[in-house]
Amino acid sequence: MLKPIPVDVVIFGGGVAGLWLLARLRKLGYQAVLLEQQAIGAGQTRYAQGIIHGGTKYALSGQLTGSAEAIAEMPAIWRACLAGEGELDLRQVKLLSPHQYLWSSDGLGSRMASFLASKLMRARTRSVATGERPEVLRNPAFKGQVYQLDEPVLDTASLLKALATPHLDAILQLPDGTSPRIERGSDDHNWQITLNHSEHPPTLQTKRIVLCAGKGNAALLQQLGMAQPAMQTRPLNMVLLRAGPGKRLPGELYAHCLGTSAIPRITITTHQDAQGNSLWYLGGQLAEQGVGRSDAEQIAAAQVELTRLFPWLDLSDAQWACAQIDRAEPKTPQGERPDTSYVHQQQGVITAWPTKLALAPRLAQQVIEQLVQGGVHAAPSSPVPPELSSWPHPGFARLPWQEDAVWN
Ligand SMILES: Cc1cc2nc3c(=O)[nH]c(=O)nc-3n(C[C@H](O)[C@H](O)[C@H](O)COP(=O)(O)OP(=O)(O)OC[C@H]3O[C@@H](n4cnc5c(N)ncnc54)[C@H](O)[C@@H]3O)c2cc1C
Repeated sequence: MLKPIPVDVVIFGGGVAGLWLLARLRKLGYQAVLLEQQAIGAGQTRYAQGIIHGGTKYALSGQLTGSAEAIAEMPAIWRACLAGEGELDLRQVKLLSPHQYLWSSDGLGSRMASFLASKLMRARTRSVATGERPEVLRNPAFKGQVYQLDEPVLDTASLLKALATPHLDAILQLPDGTSPRIERGSDDHNWQITLNHSEHPPTLQTKRIVLCAGKGNAALLQQLGMAQPAMQTRPLNMVLLRAGPGKRLPGELYAHCLGTSAIPRITITTHQDAQGNSLWYLGGQLAEQGVGRSDAEQIAAAQVELTRLFPWLDLSDAQWACAQIDRAEPKTPQGERPDTSYVHQQQGVITAWPTKLALAPRLAQQVIEQLVQGGVHAAPSSPVPPELSSWPHPGFARLPWQEDAVWN
């Protein structure tokens, strides 16, 4: 057997959480390695709408919930990174929109106006005059109100590239279909991870394992013989919409529509498919309530909803597709959405779920604090051990509308 290769931290999972953490740790001088089973971004991250939430969505019930408070600082942290002045350099990330919008459906305008005018929300929102609205909300038939939120929207493919590319030397591909052997090392806070089952497999010896594998955390915890923390999944049935041949969508839209519940009735973002056609990606209540529906049923529901919201749009020859995906999070008592990012440590294993792409910076900070508290400190200079230099690196996952979408 080869001599174990010592590293400070081994991260499982190359979604936004693992990648942000890897970049932060390496910048601090930790010798960190990330192991990815499929491709970079292959889990929930490639399905994300890319909204850097500032909490407005969570405050729609009229109260500042725990999540609204925790997430309020995120847009500023991300904007600093996008400008190259933050904890990470994200100047290569494509900004889809500097702002997210919020509009009211019929009959809710006054409720929304008074809520958004409240002291709580005044700093985060601004009422938008007709001429400044997104194109589809400028139609004379539109009777609601539109607010601009301090929430940028990012292209997630460029985000994954910007986070991973500078650290590709430390991002290792796990051999297809194999799981590494994970064993306790010489003491309780020391682990040995054997990368494959070849004759002379390399073994990493690490002080901390960080599980950032999204839905894969449950299987990893089981492999480690740990019953806690428990995980829950909350499925979504998202809908994609693009214009028919020779037509165009009515402009870009990055907006939540306020309905009667705390969850937006619909959340729409705009992206481009592999041929460069614009498409709308529909989430919110439509995607939550669409779980269990067939593609045909969910598309029919989306058509009804869009016709109610934008009766002036002709969608008769539009093309539609669905994308089903589970969100993975720590288990909550009633299965409700957790308030904020989550970190749990036991026996040198840190389990982490950001619960939102926007919360990846907060999650990384929580993990770093756990490392420091546990006496795991960075060394001044810690390159990737040379023994790992020939190990293969994973490729980048494609976004659902670039690859898998089956258009109807
Ligand atoms: C449809 C949808 C839209 C969303 N939109 C937004 C949004 O607009 N804004 C926002 O803030 N949040 C959004 N979210 C939430 C956000 O996408 C997730 O919270 C975030 O992407 C989770 O990132 P992660 O890195 O924890 O997990 P994931 O992205 O799931 O990454 C986990 C990674 O681990 C890998 N993996 C799994 N098992 C193993 C293993 N055993 N070994 C090694 N690697 C493994 C997977 O291949 C994957 O690459 C959205 C979520 C969904 C589903």
